[in-house]
Amino acid sequence: MRSVLVVDGSAVSRELLTRVISEELKGVRVTSCGSGHEALERLAADRFDLITTALVLPDMDGLYLCRHIRSSENHYLTPIIVTSGDADGRLLREGFTAGVTDYFEKSSGYQAFGPFLRRFLDRHAGLTGRVLYVEDSHTVAALTRKILERHNLRAEHVMSAEEALQLVRAEPRGAFDLVITDMALKGELSGGDLLHVLRTQLRYFQEELPVLVLTGDEGVNTQLGVFRAGANDFVSKPLVEEILMARVRLLLTVKHQFDTLKHQAQAMQRMAVTDSLTGVYNRHYLANEGIRFAADKRNQPLWVMIVDLDHFKQINDNHGHLTGDVVLTAIGQLLSERFPDGLPVRFGGEEFAVLVPRCSRQQAGERAEELRAAVASLKPAGVSISVSIGIACAEQHPDANLNALMALADKALYAAKAAGRNRIYVNDARNQIQPLLQAAG
Ligand code: GH3
Ligand code: MG
Ligand code: MG
Ligand code: MG
Repeated sequence: MRSVLVVDGSAVSRELLTRVISEELKGVRVTSCGSGHEALERLAADRFDLITTALVLPDMDGLYLCRHIRSSENHYLTPIIVTSGDADGRLLREGFTAGVTDYFEKSSGYQAFGPFLRRFLDRHAGLTGRVLYVEDSHTVAALTRKILERHNLRAEHVMSAEEALQLVRAEPRGAFDLVITDMALKGELSGGDLLHVLRTQLRYFQEELPVLVLTGDEGVNTQLGVFRAGANDFVSKPLVEEILMARVRLLLTVKHQFDTLKHQAQAMQRMAVTDSLTGVYNRHYLANEGIRFAADKRNQPLWVMIVDLDHFKQINDNHGHLTGDVVLTAIGQLLSERFPDGLPVRFGGEEFAVLVPRCSRQQAGERAEELRAAVASLKPAGVSISVSIGIACAEQHPDANLNALMALADKALYAAKAAGRNRIYVNDARNQIQPLLQAAG
């Protein structure tokens, strides 16, 4: 939205409307005029993205102006908001045929115009989305694409249902926001077949990938068939721009709402499994996903690392609990950075566990040692800290489930603590607990 025209006989109203619009729509140019004739001149000379007019103008009826705008070359689709001091019966009776898009009741006060405008723009927001368009006639396709482009929508055009399916399969799920397809296509598959595959084989819900069918056939049976196959809606040819765009707008809104809900659900899911202080997974996640992760063949040989801060109680005592929290956050961040392939978990207060996939004993040892050294030089909030680490490998303990394996790594951790901290111990085959470096060397 770049340019708005305000038409009102009252200088005060013009001033107030201009101010609200400029506040709501940053960077938009507002032109105002005091009469219908002045408005018509402006409209002929310039392009506007939104028009507001009073119902009563000094020289003209506001609804007459609306009709004029609707029959003009430049502005026949431009939204028009009529502002009026009272719920005029005439506006309700004639507003629709005059082409009024919406109606603002001035008696609710100009401060209400801001929220009104925001809601209005949400509804009429510029269309965004990726459209896949299936049409086997070049002429019709060129025409339809031109319409879509006028509304800032770029459609990817293919000639057949086969090509459309190829594209949908090649792209990540959710890449397209809308499919528009002709019903009769020249290839093996019709628009109906395309729909059928999308809904039954690829399992796209109607909200997830809306499909608008273009049909030349007015027959009730075709229409029913279109819905039965899972179309969201249909438009019959020859296409009427406003009808096509009303459907497109509605279906894109449906898809965008679906996306929003999906993102919210994903964010909530992430929150439920994330430790809020440290950003790594929480214990709850370990209990569910950890077991799956540890059992996955692709993750073998799998190692468990238990990482416990040394003398953390003293850090709290000497520097305060808040500093303690900063230290924990820094450790969480370090684990996330160093084990993007693994599953880092805050196991208890100052105790972390990491499931590390696909490591030889040598590699697991190196990664543990690198972690230990990184912590020792980290100095979060200026505090020197260290960790003790116990590790164990699933391959060396074939009878241990994840819980047992963690207990084995915990035993190694205990040995590391007893031996003086800031070091790594391994619980090797036959429960042989030994320092990592000595065993490796
Ligand atoms: P060790 O080297 O033997 O592991 O000694 P430690 O002091 O680290 O171990 P201990 O288990 O005695 O103390 C753990 C401390 O961690 C006690 C508790 O107050 C603190 N703690 C647990 N959760 C949090 C937390 O979320 N924030 C802060 N700041 N401290 C925590
Ligand atoms: Mg066709
Ligand atoms: Mg500790
Ligand atoms: Mg502890």
